[in-house]
Amino acid sequence: MNKEEFLARLRAPHRPTVSVEFFPPKTKEDGQLMLKTAKALQPFGIDFASITYGAGGSDRSTVLEYGQQLVAAGFPLIAHLTCVGHSRAELDEIINKYDSAGFSGILALRGDPPKGQKEFIAHPEGFAHAFGLVQLIQQIHPHRFAIGVAGFPERHPNSPDDLSDIRHLAGKVSAGADFVTTQLFLDNEDYFRFVERARAAGVVAPILPGIMPVLSLKQARRFCGFCQAKIPATLEAELLACGDDEEAQRKVGVSWAVRQIRGLLARGVPGYHVYILNRSQSAIELFTQLRR
Ligand SMILES: Cc1cc2nc3c(=O)[nH]c(=O)nc-3n(C[C@H](O)[C@H](O)[C@H](O)COP(=O)(O)OP(=O)(O)OC[C@H]3O[C@@H](n4cnc5c(N)ncnc54)[C@H](O)[C@@H]3O)c2cc1C
Repeated sequence: MNKEEFLARLRAPHRPTVSVEFFPPKTKEDGQLMLKTAKALQPFGIDFASITYGAGGSDRSTVLEYGQQLVAAGFPLIAHLTCVGHSRAELDEIINKYDSAGFSGILALRGDPPKGQKEFIAHPEGFAHAFGLVQLIQQIHPHRFAIGVAGFPERHPNSPDDLSDIRHLAGKVSAGADFVTTQLFLDNEDYFRFVERARAAGVVAPILPGIMPVLSLKQARRFCGFCQAKIPATLEAELLACGDDEEAQRKVGVSWAVRQIRGLLARGVPGYHVYILNRSQSAIELFTQLRR
């Protein structure tokens, strides 16, 4: 799928765009599982898949391999790319490889500091912010890729206030981003307030809400702690009521995500992006329940 087809799909009225996110598996067995999950999701009419780019280490090298496998399985693909540890020349090379691999788009990210490092330190010949990467993609392949960027309904943890957070988002969109995918959030009101701020700042690009069916209270606390997202009291109570029953907690996570997505669709969102964490069970249950 080329950029124009991709964007036409994203902007089509009356039918939400649905995407799912994979991460590059670490072993061949996990790779098989990822592909099995992707195939199991195909009947649900997923519009595109995305594949993450690791903060460093082994999974970076497999983005191309597994991304190509997802393309071969029939998914238009958005490959993530971060500025972590890369010079401009290296990013250039990776973008060219994404081009040859037939990827439809790139989610241009700054990335988080690698393990053991508190602050993000830009490569001396690289970029300090995702903005630079968006500009680079535009420069070397002006009409080739649909470009996405990250948005943060509850504000990026490095942002001192909402205003600067949105100003920098608007900057990435002005530099050439076609759409925004959000960080996970568990209270839809956070998303709608974020969209309101973005529109007020002149961002007209579609903003896809990012939804994660939580697996357990422990996992939700870990993920939300990392990205500084709130866990609503009602969800926390529902998870606590399951006690140690992990399967019951997982089902609560799916049911919460279904309620979130229904609530978002009822208010006219352009689509939604599901962080499926390569897990077929929660993803299949989620899409099955949404069809009812
Ligand atoms: C949908 C989604 C997918 C993700 N996928 C991955 C992935 O695959 N791999 C991975 O490692 N991480 C991923 N992340 C995490 C992401 O890399 C981190 O959240 C990172 O900390 C910020 O990335 P960014 O692209 O938003 O950065 P930026 O847009 O650069 O923003 C980072 C911070 O800097 C501020 N800022 C921006 N521009 C300026 C400026 N000019 N001057 C001063 N401050 C500025 C912003 O307001 C923000 O506080 C993802 C996040 C999301 C939401």
